[in-house]
Amino acid sequence: MTISEMCDSLGAALISMLDGELVYVRLTDAEGELNAETAQTRLGPAGGIIPTLRRSLGSWLAQRNVGHGKTANPFGSGTLTIASADIGSRWGRIVIGSEAAEFPSASQRLLLDVAADQFSTALWRRRAEDAGTRYRATVNGSSEFIGIANLEGSTDYLNAAGRLLVGLGTADQLDGRHVLDFIAEADRDLVKKSVLPVAKRSGHWSGEFRLRHMQSGADIPVFADVFTIDHPRTEHPRNIATICRSVSGIERSQLQLRRTNEDLAERLALLTSELADVRERLLAEASERGRADAIGREVQLELYQAMRIGAAGEMAVNIAHELSQPLTAAANSLGAIRRTVASERPPAETLELVGEAADQIRRASTILRRLRGFIGHGKSTPRLEDVAAILDDAVGLAMVGASALGVRVAVHYDPDVSHVYVDRIQVQQVIVNLVRNAIEAMADSVRRELTIEVTRTPDDMIEVAVADSGPGLTEDVADRLFVPYVTTKGHGMGLGLAISRSMVQANGGDLTFGPGEGGGTVFRFTLAPRPPRRLQ
Ligand code: ADP
Repeated sequence: MTISEMCDSLGAALISMLDGELVYVRLTDAEGELNAETAQTRLGPAGGIIPTLRRSLGSWLAQRNVGHGKTANPFGSGTLTIASADIGSRWGRIVIGSEAAEFPSASQRLLLDVAADQFSTALWRRRAEDAGTRYRATVNGSSEFIGIANLEGSTDYLNAAGRLLVGLGTADQLDGRHVLDFIAEADRDLVKKSVLPVAKRSGHWSGEFRLRHMQSGADIPVFADVFTIDHPRTEHPRNIATICRSVSGIERSQLQLRRTNEDLAERLALLTSELADVRERLLAEASERGRADAIGREVQLELYQAMRIGAAGEMAVNIAHELSQPLTAAANSLGAIRRTVASERPPAETLELVGEAADQIRRASTILRRLRGFIGHGKSTPRLEDVAAILDDAVGLAMVGASALGVRVAVHYDPDVSHVYVDRIQVQQVIVNLVRNAIEAMADSVRRELTIEVTRTPDDMIEVAVADSGPGLTEDVADRLFVPYVTTKGHGMGLGLAISRSMVQANGGDLTFGPGEGGGTVFRFTLAPRPPRRLQ
């Protein structure tokens, strides 16, 4: 029955129940716009008189709850008694006219009001049914999976698209099935432990899971919205509804977009880890460099030792010559002793000879000890050393064979100076180098004097000055004296001074040079008298 038909039958019922001449029912919407209207007379529906009724009953229609009154009969002579009633609070009005003078009696008035109320109720119900029908049609015609279950998870409803998606033929195949029956095995835990509890607690869950095709058992990936439906009166959750969109359908592009985003995120993560790798490699290279530096330092120490061995090699001839003298002397002395002892009456000089032999052998062994000490083992460490002992050994070694060349050496010590904090072998190497350079420089000089002076400087360092009486440095050599491989000697390497300076600097001092007072050259280097503060 349409709304207009409902109006018509209401009109007809009122005419007969209230014994009226005419009835006009008018329904409007919330904005007052006309929805439906009907006019009835004793003779039946009278749509033709509606325009006249609208005009003559205008004031009755415009005002609410007017009750009743009289008006001129629009269709005859005399007056009509009019009664009106509102249909609910918003639906419209019923106006009824009667020729009876006592109209409306109390019972007629009551009947009119009851009819208006019932018609209002019928309209509400009708509207709800219409809405329900519309919703059902919408839900059932939707292309998305729409299912409704009770709070325990037993399914009440699944629309046609939903049934199609999961392979259920008819609605009755739904009976007794649990929500989880529609979920792919692998996602059941997720739905059971997370989706449903979250939806019940917060009213809504949305995300992805896989449905299960009831016949093939295949997984169906979907985006789902799961939400509760409240009871209209108690407003407590009564049902759980699920709307799913198959990922393979409309959402494919969204999924691709999301995958692209995920890919980007993955690539970013990859890039980040590559960067971390690069950083690690750089760090490894840095530590490799550190190791290389350490190796470099070791190589440098080996070079130093090689230089010393080279120098020792150069000195070897002289050393051999120098050793042969004391050893020969010792041998002679011992021969004499042997002869004397053979006669069994040792004269007084026998003891002298024995003493002399012992001296010579001690001399030879001193030279050998110095040589051994000078060559060292490549590694030595700084410590507090006696300056005089270092100088005696180094100068003694460097001077081997030089006395024969007429070189005289004088060493002067400042009484204040006793110890230095140095790497003994390195300092000896510097001294040997400087002394040998000086001896070589004086080769053509008439005066061959070497003076070594040990003093304390104003800034509390120990200075060793090695002065010779040679020709002095030429300007060209002086400019590049510490540049490696600068040499004026046929057999020289030009490394001695460069290495000497770096060794002195490594021991906390510096190596400088200048012209000597009476000609020649003075090389000065400084040494620390004690360990650096942080080591003390
Ligand atoms: P090398 O002795 O192998 O040449 P050095 O670095 O020890 O290497 O010396 C470099 C050069 O400096 C020498 O070749 C020499 O010309 C010059 N030189 C060094 N010491 C003196 C000195 N006391 N007097 C004059 N020239 C010197």
